[in-house]
Amino acid sequence: MLLMMLERGIPVDRVLFADVGEMAEFEQMYEYISRIEIYTGIPIETVRSERWTARSIFYGYPSRGKYMDDIRGFPLTIGSACRYRTWLKVEPLEAAAGQDQDIYIGIAADEAGRSRCKEYAKGKNRYHFPLVDWGITEQQCLDYLREKQLFNPLYVHFKRLGCFWCPKQPIDSLRQLYIHFPELWDTLRQMEKDQGRPFQYKRTVEDLQLRFNRELASKQEQIIPTFTQIGSFSDQTCFACVGNDSRLITR
Ligand code: SF4
Repeated sequence: MLLMMLERGIPVDRVLFADVGEMAEFEQMYEYISRIEIYTGIPIETVRSERWTARSIFYGYPSRGKYMDDIRGFPLTIGSACRYRTWLKVEPLEAAAGQDQDIYIGIAADEAGRSRCKEYAKGKNRYHFPLVDWGITEQQCLDYLREKQLFNPLYVHFKRLGCFWCPKQPIDSLRQLYIHFPELWDTLRQMEKDQGRPFQYKRTVEDLQLRFNRELASKQEQIIPTFTQIGSFSDQTCFACVGNDSRLITR
């Protein structure tokens, strides 16, 4: 979206990226953001919570409720509510953006429903969704970035990006994590162990591993492309959430 806006002569004052940080962000995302900064010549401001980190949320204890003796751990798989999204993305972005601003969010035309979220309607700013207005789909964004040699390699594996261990992500995304990011998978295993309850509702990391290993054994021919292949950046959104990690602010 950023590149398309610049091509159309739409002035961009700031580009914000909400960094969920260590223990949640893909390292490759930082490299990709640097590439975009170099290409556009626009510095991308990294926004972080002053109070929270993924680690402090995960290993912290709730201050009230019947689960006060258990660490918070992973978010629930049901519903779109997620304190990681609220505390690490939405709140820091809203604080950095201020108010009475024009904010542009890269929701594609084929997911326009996300732009009708009440958070945008009741926000302190004016939210715009140019890709929706221009009728540009996710696939068209990917093709556009490929043409420009600016494809985000993470999109070789994932349709949507967020915390690498997000329990809300689709099974295919978890499969990709298991096969291509073994170190991150080990971190996920350790987090489940520390949490002391299943990663997902009635499903453990071990269950997933068994499933993926069975699939790999029965479909040896299905070798998924390696990470080093060229890979996009439409908007960097959560696996499950409606809020975005990257925003542009224009006057
Ligand atoms: S990726 Fe998942 S865990 Fe991370 S903020 Fe989004 S919904 Fe929450």
